[in-house]
Amino acid sequence: KRLTTHQLRQAYLDFFVSKGHKLFKSDSLVPANDPSVLFTSAGMNQFKDRFLGKVRDVKRATSCQKCFRTGDLEEVGRTPFHHTFFEMLGNFSFGDYFKKEAIQWAWEFVTEVMEIDPARLWASVYEDDDEAMGIWQKIVKVPADKIRKFGPKDNFWPSNAIKEGPNGPCGPCSEIYYEKEEGQSVEVWNLVFTQFNRCDGGILEPLPNKNIDTGMGLERMSSVLQGVDTNFKIDVFVPIVEAVRQNAQDAEDSAVYTVADHVRAVAFCIGDGVLPSNDGRGYVVRKLIRRCLYLTQASHHTKPFVYKLISSVAASMKEAYPEILERRDNIAQIVRAEEEKYIKNILEGGSEKLAVILESLKACGQKELAPETGLDLYVTYGIQPDFTKDYFEKAGIGVDMARIEALIRQEQDKSRMTSKMACSIFSGEGIVLKPSRFVGYETDTCPAKVV
Ligand code: ATP
Ligand code: MG
Ligand code: MG
Ligand code: MG
Repeated sequence: KRLTTHQLRQAYLDFFVSKGHKLFKSDSLVPANDPSVLFTSAGMNQFKDRFLGKVRDVKRATSCQKCFRTGDLEEVGRTPFHHTFFEMLGNFSFGDYFKKEAIQWAWEFVTEVMEIDPARLWASVYEDDDEAMGIWQKIVKVPADKIRKFGPKDNFWPSNAIKEGPNGPCGPCSEIYYEKEEGQSVEVWNLVFTQFNRCDGGILEPLPNKNIDTGMGLERMSSVLQGVDTNFKIDVFVPIVEAVRQNAQDAEDSAVYTVADHVRAVAFCIGDGVLPSNDGRGYVVRKLIRRCLYLTQASHHTKPFVYKLISSVAASMKEAYPEILERRDNIAQIVRAEEEKYIKNILEGGSEKLAVILESLKACGQKELAPETGLDLYVTYGIQPDFTKDYFEKAGIGVDMARIEALIRQEQDKSRMTSKMACSIFSGEGIVLKPSRFVGYETDTCPAKVV
């Protein structure tokens, strides 16, 4: 069936409302009562207390949740199906229906409402979950060769909960995949059967209430329906991608897609009140804006441009999120100020520094960048480790990005403590400007080291 993303969202919610589910609005990207998580990462987050039986009002719920996964940052632009910000459709049962209905309804929605050819679909179940296997085979009548068994990494939630996961509600899951081309499949829907309470020693006690928690990726399902090979070609992304291309002519597809992803994420984060800053959530927003700038540097950006893309996000997302359209100019202003600061204080000074370091390393025949140098580039010039990595690796110099990131984390922890005493370095306002600790690049002493 040919549907717009907006129509798909609506069709899903209508379908589950028709099955007795109460419609819930998306929760904020910033979880209200859960300081332990940075961002809302799944539809189930807002229902935690209902899963635990602390709140007992409705038995069935459905929602389209704004999600943000910092853990997927590195995947963006590398896979066709990962975003930082995305929307997750979900249906939930709190001690009401269980596996049979969850599987049947998912199948009905995908094959009958969405009219997807069952020949292209396959399912996965947790290796020990004979019950789910039986439902797929005997009730839904999916042939055995279209059902794969996976272990706890993919098909138990939280992942690996049996061996090393956290205590608490957990359970096996069953996923629906769509085969786009021979051998290339995309996971579109995950059905979690929350049936155990994990206790000390990895003991799984059956929960008194069995719950259902499902998550379908809106953009992924939309790419299936629209017959495109990447989420970045679906209707909601096309205008954003085009706006990026206009502003960064020579950028490669993966960079264009990444910027399109990031600008959407930035708009929604700021829309939910997260302003660019130097730690926590704000740091993520700052990092996304900076990545947009340096990912397109090949097209010689010395001027802010990310703010110009905000209107394309507002236009393409306005049907479901009119608040982004309303706040469009305000969001763009915030992004622009952040870009200007970055370009003026950091990029201009930083690129000279990079060139000097590179020359000095080459002169000494060095093949590795000292991680401490990567740290200093970040602290002094705000140059992100992934930019450092790109820059030096292009020139044949190895960069241990994980090590640099670890050093940055250490530095941030330290600074958070000192900022309480001295005037703050990481005050959340302005850019981290510390006196440079570099020595020796301007001289011909080798090797280039940081003291
Ligand atoms: P993957 O294995 O592809 O990374 P996942 O198993 O981590 O996905 P779940 O945690 O099961 O994903 O989330 C439920 C659904 O949300 C997935 O089936 C997928 O459709 C969608 N989804 C998950 N992560 C992303 C993402 N980064 N971008 C877009 N959609 C996503
Ligand atoms: Mg994942
Ligand atoms: Mg998966
Ligand atoms: Mg999954």
